[in-house]
Amino acid sequence: MTKQCKACGKAFQPHPKVPNQTYCSSPECQRERRRRWLEEKRQVDADYQGNEPQKIEQWRNEHPDYWKQYRQANPNYADRNRNLQQTRNQRSRNPVIANVYELPEFSPFPSGRYRLIPVIADVIANEYELIVEIIVIS
Ligand SMILES: [Zn+2]
Repeated sequence: MTKQCKACGKAFQPHPKVPNQTYCSSPECQRERRRRWLEEKRQVDADYQGNEPQKIEQWRNEHPDYWKQYRQANPNYADRNRNLQQTRNQRSRNPVIANVYELPEFSPFPSGRYRLIPVIADVIANEYELIVEIIVIS
């Protein structure tokens, strides 16, 4: 059964798992769908404003020294961060190669969730952090 896209008006085939689909899958129409959803949401729910990127950007522009002042007011926080970053930098310059003879009885890296932070051009790219599940198989 084909439907007519609410945005572009073209006929499309809804995804089998989304029978109520009313917009085709083109990126423009999906953007339009989200835009309309947000608009509606905003009208219905006055509280739904917190996560909008423009709001965050606006707040940042109105409080340009917030983090600077925060660091000045909280020297421990700044120190701790600086130390952590230095340690991380140190580690990325001199990666620790696990020595077989020093390995404890149990692997220091058991299966579990880990924070994966890429190093891009020798800089820890925290904003690209991923939480990954690692399953150790031996
Ligand atoms: Zn469309």
